[in-house]
Amino acid sequence: MSGALPAAGEDAAPALIELRGIRRRYGGQGGQPAVEVLRGIDLSIRAGEFVAIVGQSGSGKSTLMNLLGCLDRPSGGTYRFNGHDVAGLDADALAWLRREAFGFVFQGYHLISTESARENVEVPALYAGRRESERTQRATALLARLGLADKLHLRPNQLSGGQQQRVSIARALMNGGRIILADEPTGALDSRSGAEVMALLHELADAGHTIILITHDREVAAQARRVIEIRDGCIVADGGSAAPPRPAHPMQAVPQPPVPGAAPTGSEAGSFWNDLREAARTAWRGMRLNRSRTGLTLLGIVIGVASVIVMLSVGEGARRQVMERMGTMGTAILYLGSQAPATGGPAGQLTEEDLQALRELPEIRRVLPVIGDPITVRRGSADRQVYVFAASQEMPAVHRWPVALGRYYSDAEDRGLAPLVVLGHKAHRHFFPGLPDPLGRQLLIGNSPFEVIGVMAERGADSGAQNYDDMVFIPYQAGRARVYQAQTQPDYVVVEAASSGQVHAAEAAMRRLLLARHGREDFGIGNAAARIQAEVATRHSMTVMLGLIAAVSLVVGGIGVMNVMLMTVKERTREIGIRVATGARRRDIQRQFMTEAVLVTLAGGTAGVLAGLAVGAVLIAAGVPVVFSVSAMLGAFGCAVATGLVFGFMPARTAARLDPVVALAGEQR
Ligand code: ADP
Ligand code: MG
Repeated sequence: MSGALPAAGEDAAPALIELRGIRRRYGGQGGQPAVEVLRGIDLSIRAGEFVAIVGQSGSGKSTLMNLLGCLDRPSGGTYRFNGHDVAGLDADALAWLRREAFGFVFQGYHLISTESARENVEVPALYAGRRESERTQRATALLARLGLADKLHLRPNQLSGGQQQRVSIARALMNGGRIILADEPTGALDSRSGAEVMALLHELADAGHTIILITHDREVAAQARRVIEIRDGCIVADGGSAAPPRPAHPMQAVPQPPVPGAAPTGSEAGSFWNDLREAARTAWRGMRLNRSRTGLTLLGIVIGVASVIVMLSVGEGARRQVMERMGTMGTAILYLGSQAPATGGPAGQLTEEDLQALRELPEIRRVLPVIGDPITVRRGSADRQVYVFAASQEMPAVHRWPVALGRYYSDAEDRGLAPLVVLGHKAHRHFFPGLPDPLGRQLLIGNSPFEVIGVMAERGADSGAQNYDDMVFIPYQAGRARVYQAQTQPDYVVVEAASSGQVHAAEAAMRRLLLARHGREDFGIGNAAARIQAEVATRHSMTVMLGLIAAVSLVVGGIGVMNVMLMTVKERTREIGIRVATGARRRDIQRQFMTEAVLVTLAGGTAGVLAGLAVGAVLIAAGVPVVFSVSAMLGAFGCAVATGLVFGFMPARTAARLDPVVALAGEQR
């Protein structure tokens, strides 16, 4: 690249800044006539010069400064920085150059209004990846040197114009400020503050900084060592550097611009976490300063997350309730009873052989014949009507109901017609009040004595008409022999399929078998399991639907976040411009705004989870079955954060793509 360098005057060393035929046009698209603001600028500036560019308002000074500072690209001509053509540098390399080589001082100070003086000064170092302690130390020292030691923590609006301009000079020096580009630095100041600022620039020039001062004021310009006059985009007079350029200060070695595409050095010192923490800090500040707006945005996310959690929890609660209410016996239960066939004739008879044949079907796990009726049960002088449940020893297994005390009878005892009884939880209390262990005692059921061998666990309120806790349980065969002598067949038979997936197969196999045995359909099969399964499926789809509705509200919340972020970007264009001018890369800006969006949604997600838990707690207190699931909470939370990422992306990209020159000119809030 440097081989193509044209002779730079009489000096062998290339000029620090070398412009050749620089042009800058505006417009020219959409039918508008193009305006040529700079019309072929030739200019070289060597390291250590103190140059003033003077011209009337509108002559193109600021445009020239933006080009010099690599905030803008020329429409034509070449700009060599330290011998390298700047046109070959990509956006990140230009950001690096702005950060490491230049320091900007603007007429309007261009300080970030939400940050303190010290934080404003630190901004360029932030993007250079300097460590926090180092940053703070240097910013404090610079401000102290400029007489602002006691103003470190004040915001720009708490400072006078002169003080603000000194803060911006400190910022320009933060990364070294080898070349200070000052655009009308005294324009907005009273004469005393203006003189102070000029004195400062002189001091810096003496210290070896290259100063490029832009002004419309000839008196101010006259203080520089070289005055260049610009009119209508052309240089009309150049005092030239009378004195040979001062030897560059040892501290002022000019950095070589990085090779395009290569990772710029200097920015690698900052770790990912440092950057993230910095972005989070800025985001948090922005959120705090706009409390009401942040609050409203948060509300959208909070409502979204909370409703997802509540809806899913309520749905799950309802589903479990159905399962519990209807499916205490599991979801594989069928009922079998005899009935008169639809074609006429007497009802059928379910024999022991029928049941035995059913037991042998592979689709069927258990067959439980049941006889039950209210019978008078006596103990001593106390008697009461009790539902006496005669069934085989498989009753606890089929009902998924454990024995709390003692034991249940065995199959052998059943077949041996043993007079044994197991009490329901309440029946125990009715017949043996104050006797915790009734095992071995006798009960008179009908007219036969039965020995108590066990007590069932408490079952609680089922939805069924009967309360199982009130009942007593006796072996099926003993029941038929001793209590229900008139009974020729079970009242009904509970059949458990091999699995809940096989209830339909079990039903079909059962029907085939009994049809073959009876020759006609003189029995009825009730498929409770299928009903429960259908019900559970319905509840499940309802839960999903409620969850979807809630998710929509989450999306609406996300759109709210996007809206606010877009507004924020608009409001903060100037801040973005300042950050870019001081060396932020696109990805720095992108990351900052993404972090803000994610932070908002993180906060909203957290609050939403808490709100969801609170609402759930209220519902539980009101008796609504609610089952919280961690996965629902994590899911809702994750959705919220994902919403932030998705809906924050667009505004962040908008911010990152802002043209720095346009952004700097952006309105202040
Ligand atoms: P100075 O700083 O010397 O007052 P500027 O460089 O700001 O002048 O502007 C020079 C001329 O360029 C002005 O006439 C201005 O209207 C025009 N100009 C500046 N920026 C733009 C732009 N983005 N689009 C169109 N015209 C512009
Ligand atoms: Mg200007």
